[in-house]
Amino acid sequence: MATTDDSFGGLTEHCEECELDTLHEVSVQLRTESAKSENAAFSREPYRVTECQRCGRRDSQRMNDA
Ligand SMILES: [Zn+2]
Repeated sequence: MATTDDSFGGLTEHCEECELDTLHEVSVQLRTESAKSENAAFSREPYRVTECQRCGRRDSQRMNDA
């Protein structure tokens, strides 16, 4: 798994709400996947969360799905 955590903390990305490239704050969250009941305690998945600094829109993307 390749991680590019050198760019976390703020970068320019395309915002669907603004329909242009804006400054985003980027962070990583661990979320528990509740769908898998059997081993829910062990299925915490990292999500990449971006927040547009212009309009406040938040997007999250499961990193392991990419
Ligand atoms: Zn925006």
